[in-house]
Amino acid sequence: MSIKEIDREYVANTYARFPLVLKEGKGARVFDDEGKEYIDLGTGIAVNTFGYSDEEWKNAVTEQLSKLQHTSNLYYSEPCARLAEMLCTRTGMKKVFFSNSGAEANECAIKAARKYGEVNKGAEHTTIITLCDSFHGRTLTTLAATGQEVFHKDFLPLTDGFVYAKANDIEDVKRLASENKCCAVMFEVVQGEGGVRPLTNEFLRELEAFARENELLLIADEVQTGNGRTGKLYGYMHSGITPDIVSTAKGLGGGLPIGATMLGERVKDILGVSMHGSTFGGNPVCCAGALNIISRLTDECLYGVTERSNYIFSQLDGAKGIKSVSGLGLMIGVECEKDAGEVISACRERGVLVIKAKHKVRLLPPLNIEMNDLKKAIEIFKEICAE
Ligand SMILES: *Cc1c(COP(=O)(O)O)cnc(C)c1O
Repeated sequence: MSIKEIDREYVANTYARFPLVLKEGKGARVFDDEGKEYIDLGTGIAVNTFGYSDEEWKNAVTEQLSKLQHTSNLYYSEPCARLAEMLCTRTGMKKVFFSNSGAEANECAIKAARKYGEVNKGAEHTTIITLCDSFHGRTLTTLAATGQEVFHKDFLPLTDGFVYAKANDIEDVKRLASENKCCAVMFEVVQGEGGVRPLTNEFLRELEAFARENELLLIADEVQTGNGRTGKLYGYMHSGITPDIVSTAKGLGGGLPIGATMLGERVKDILGVSMHGSTFGGNPVCCAGALNIISRLTDECLYGVTERSNYIFSQLDGAKGIKSVSGLGLMIGVECEKDAGEVISACRERGVLVIKAKHKVRLLPPLNIEMNDLKKAIEIFKEICAE
């Protein structure tokens, strides 16, 4: 049987896969098992921060791998401590809890917020306001946090205590806060799965002011927007707000599974010994990968993200067959006149990998993609949209 056949036979049916088997890659380029080469503008959904098989990252990871692959959290280990220190130093957050995915990073954020509500506002203050069209993960609680009915319907009852405000509508947040006993507001600075839709800086600042007046925590879900993706280290940094909790994952490990929940001043000690944990959390190999990624997200690197982003926007905005371009940095959604699925297939035929977000085509290229690769891929994308 072919790989596709084995997969269809034995892997659970939860994914609509593209019809190709990826084999090996370098930078933004990847080959399938038939030897066809592609420029990948999807990076495994914003995970391969510096593309495939990046030398520096690979060295950092393999060096740690040859020393110690896992310790458990019964012991101290250097990569975990150093990564927490680096994240706090770079963001101003105070403490970090490590897990293995975005959903888990959000679970920790939700637990911390509930505990904060109980301690500071009373046991009944458990509700968290999230936004319509948000995406926060696939566990039952993060599904509940996700403001999209389609994800809920097969798995009821979900965890209680989430209400959904309209994005960029502070009055709707205020209404929900007055109708419920709340402890926090949780949001993505750019709604990724929801269609690559940025929140406005004005809304984020109003949200911060309202949260401060009403003792609500601000939880930024930076699972996708984090780690340089938007041209700042974390997406919230564009607006000047200071969240109380920042969750991240995807690009943090550069391809290894790691989630982080950063806790600010108000919540840094809200979780005590035995209140939360993870067997793999803070795994030294994943932390070594993440240390390499974060240490390389310098001003110069982030400037390069913005330059590449400007290039993409300038090429696509108003181009033939393109209705709109949205997003921030190298997290971009393109609304085409053609059906997104059709555009994605045509791109694949012509050697460019892009992905979907609702009815849009989503571009998430490596942060350091070579300009030649980017130009070539965007040229092909434009031709397909214009046909
Ligand atoms: C992908 C994503 C998640 C879920 O991350 P997993 O690692 O798949 O659990 C949560 N929030 C946002 C904003 C995401 O983009």
